[in-house]
Amino acid sequence: MTTKVSEQAISEETIGQFRASLVSMDRSIDNAARVDLLRALEELKASCAGAQALLAADLDAFTRKDRGERGVPRSYQGRGINAQIALARRESAWFGTQHLNLARALNDEMPHTLRLLVRGSISEHQATILMRETACLTVQDRAALDREFCCDAAILDGCGTHQLTERIRARTAEIDADSVARRARKAVRDRRVTSRPAPGTMCWLNVLLPAAAGTVVYATLGRDADSVLAGGDERTRAQIMADLLVERVTGIGRATPTPVTVNLIVSDQSLLGDGSDPAHVHGYGPVPAAIAREWITLSGEDSETMTTVRKLYARPDTGALTAMESTARTFPKGLARLIELRDRSCRTPWCDAPVRHRDHIRDHSRGGLTSAANGAGLCAACNYAKQGSDWSAEPVPGTRHTFTTTTPTGHRYSSEAPPLPTPWAGPDAA
Ligand SMILES: [Zn+2]
Repeated sequence: MTTKVSEQAISEETIGQFRASLVSMDRSIDNAARVDLLRALEELKASCAGAQALLAADLDAFTRKDRGERGVPRSYQGRGINAQIALARRESAWFGTQHLNLARALNDEMPHTLRLLVRGSISEHQATILMRETACLTVQDRAALDREFCCDAAILDGCGTHQLTERIRARTAEIDADSVARRARKAVRDRRVTSRPAPGTMCWLNVLLPAAAGTVVYATLGRDADSVLAGGDERTRAQIMADLLVERVTGIGRATPTPVTVNLIVSDQSLLGDGSDPAHVHGYGPVPAAIAREWITLSGEDSETMTTVRKLYARPDTGALTAMESTARTFPKGLARLIELRDRSCRTPWCDAPVRHRDHIRDHSRGGLTSAANGAGLCAACNYAKQGSDWSAEPVPGTRHTFTTTTPTGHRYSSEAPPLPTPWAGPDAA
């Protein structure tokens, strides 16, 4: 096998030497230096993925060109390129196809995303989400979204993968509401139940459902598991939810058909008129405005849902609830729910886990108030991490709820609550 490289090309040897330097790296450094190095290497991995995308796109283009010149029919020119990539990356062909799709989309249609990836500012996974969630758009709309989200690395800084998916979905639903709504209605046909084996003689039972049905099933199981837990039960919440599912599907046990409240945050324009501003379903994410209206019509009798929706939207930042304070150490139910709906998922940057704890940002023992401003929704793991020694956090005043967390090495991370839906001002809005 012969390889042809120019003088400036990065050689495999150069990379090999760098890898060797990692193997023999000096580990006698302080913790701050360790954290800095962890970050730098993470950026390097993303840069490598960006370089791999460029190489895969070139491999694809040059292979096709070469085959074209040799008279291979167009429909055969791209064959097996995905497998080549997969083998080189030591992954399945399915992943090879994903990598190739990503490489071509970034190279041909999403230059800003590609630039951020090569610079190490976003991960390969984030780039894949940007590619996948914009696939239904026209080339022009996709280019506009690419520029909007990736012209500056600061725009997506601290955005976890789940949050990123939601932001892109919300924006695509705004830009081309028709195609997203059409896609959503068409996707209903794909609903199904599948299962695959899991380690330890377990089984994953997967159900693909329309968002409305899926969210209600999950919320119902969670709510009923909570009431079983409240009555005293040795099982965990997750175990009870799984047991309840089996009981109800198989008919063992008793079903309790009380309706469950689904929290839908929606703008006035989308709710009452024909606005295209997507709605946010708590526990699921953004749904196109048209689908949300259909959903509301179907569940019109559930007045509690509507009340929750309107109150939340009416005064998103100055509402009486946000100013609510309590002298209690634990967050009262209404305040806890407000924090959960405001934060949607764990507030730690890059963490997308569901909110499990309502945490005092400034510790209660250090005079932190039990208020919306001093409260943050965290997952259990992040809450425990924060309770470790030398961690601290402080709320930051501003229009949108923000706080900073300082880690033991003195690295500071800022967390801003996700925006509530607002009517889209139009393509010329700044
Ligand atoms: Zn978390």
